[in-house]
Amino acid sequence: MDSNITSLHHVTATVAEAQPDLDFYVGLLGQRLVKKTVNFDNPGVYHFYYGDERGTPGTIMTTFPYAGKGVREGVRGVGQVTVTSFSAPRAAMGFWRQRLRAHGVPFVDEGTAFGEEAITCSDPSGLVIRIVGTDGDARDPWTGAGITPAQAIRGIHSVSLLVREPATTIALVQSLLDGAVIDEGAHVTRMGINGRAPGQLVEIIRASDEAAAVNGLGTVHHVAFAATTDAAQLALREEIIARGVKVTPVLDRQYFHSIYFREPNGVLFEVATRPPGFTVDEPVGALGQALKLPPWEEPRRAQIESVLPAVHA
Ligand code: ZN
Repeated sequence: MDSNITSLHHVTATVAEAQPDLDFYVGLLGQRLVKKTVNFDNPGVYHFYYGDERGTPGTIMTTFPYAGKGVREGVRGVGQVTVTSFSAPRAAMGFWRQRLRAHGVPFVDEGTAFGEEAITCSDPSGLVIRIVGTDGDARDPWTGAGITPAQAIRGIHSVSLLVREPATTIALVQSLLDGAVIDEGAHVTRMGINGRAPGQLVEIIRASDEAAAVNGLGTVHHVAFAATTDAAQLALREEIIARGVKVTPVLDRQYFHSIYFREPNGVLFEVATRPPGFTVDEPVGALGQALKLPPWEEPRRAQIESVLPAVHA
């Protein structure tokens, strides 16, 4: 079935402290803070969206800084996105090694299973972040934090799912999300979502004896795929129901509409619409500066602001 899925939309993680998170994604990786809002399911917690100038689907990393809210440390493991990769020009990999060293961030210098140069580090909460050297990533980068366009990260490269039974996940991504197998490595299959460009890539890793994942600080909560329209999302939702898989109703996330379901190995998937996008409540030049609340939380703004820690991007 043609599900009208174009690419990844975003990756969302549960993280610890807000300020170190901003310092890492904005200050070190040079991403733009495109939205500063709250967790719509728990408005006492921030929701940060990082991405390119407009927060184009496929460039977006989002975090919930849950430190001090009684959430335990998570376990990165089977049934989860265990690696989030960003795409940077291959010629800039030396720059990124030097930049991580200068910031005191340890990293492992080890290529991907498919021959690309890559460096892997942890973010301040322990999420595994990889920078993959790519040629010909056509996306215009955001150039924050004094990083030149020739060096800057282009957006998300891929997510890596650690699963016990790769075949069932591969079959679902193929049949529901316009995915295709584009490369096979040892214990890992690379799939492209409606293409094979960075931002469209999903890697399915066969688990060996790793522990099962537990949600908590320092883990990816879900990965979202981008649907062209609300109608495409609704058609996909019907298809998921027809397969007997539990799926949420369509939820209004202000910047997109979302449905959530679990793929056969337990990884939480979201399908998010491309429209309306992050300029729905502030102009592109001002994205990420003010705390934005959904209309239904505006009456409680003073109370919400009083419990959120002060931060600067
Ligand atoms: Zn999401």
